[in-house]
Amino acid sequence: MRLVSFGPAREEKPGVLVGGEIVDLLAVDPSLPATVRGILAADALARVAEVAARAASVPARARRALGSVRLGPPVTEPSKIICVGRNYPAHAAEQGKEPPVFPLLFAKGPNALCGDGDAVPYPRDTGALDYEVELAFVMGARARVGGYAVFVDLTARDLQRREGQWFRAKSFDGAAPMGPHLVTADEVPDPHALAISLEVNGETRQSGRTSEMIFTVDDLVAHITRTITLEPGDVVATGTPAGVGAHSDPPRYLARGDRVTARVESLGTLSVAIA
Ligand code: MN
Repeated sequence: MRLVSFGPAREEKPGVLVGGEIVDLLAVDPSLPATVRGILAADALARVAEVAARAASVPARARRALGSVRLGPPVTEPSKIICVGRNYPAHAAEQGKEPPVFPLLFAKGPNALCGDGDAVPYPRDTGALDYEVELAFVMGARARVGGYAVFVDLTARDLQRREGQWFRAKSFDGAAPMGPHLVTADEVPDPHALAISLEVNGETRQSGRTSEMIFTVDDLVAHITRTITLEPGDVVATGTPAGVGAHSDPPRYLARGDRVTARVESLGTLSVAIA
């Protein structure tokens, strides 16, 4: 299944995609949790599947054409967003770094999330806005992976270099585009067999495969949960392949008016404008 959070920012409602339409889950079954995170926490995907299975008989007021409503990030209020640095050998190499021996983890706040089609305001204080396409996984119930989505780790590269901590460089408002939907784990038999790529204004800048990852999804869950409880809805972004702007020659950063389009095979296409 493909789950979405649709509607105005911070008022998103959970939906499921069926045949190019969004089925408004709460309009069909008001007893479902009011967020995708809540659905994951309640282990309620089987109830969502029941709604999807009878979508044809769902009244028109409970359906929206895809494209007629805003899509938010598929999970709108994770307790945390954990990101993995240098998880692709070619990306470590383009930085002149050895592949890491242990996963390099950092965090973004939920304020950073935005959805497919959103405009990301060009952040203050940077002149070096960079892009990193990533495969994200989202935790479901009982410490299992609930699903996968396309993720972009936008980074203010000058702030990252200048400031000892990466938080301001990596967690400005809009720094975590995610979407367009959450593909449930049952539909992704091997998350390490997917093409992953990113375009700026239609020009391919990154192209790789998730098989390149140094630490797999299972490795990351095992490593993180040694010391950190992963809650349903938590997002883990698994690192980026080579081709980021900072390591192009000369460096190529994002500017206002640019369109960033990220793709992961089987998960869809996520596109945001830099405004
Ligand atoms: Mn990254």
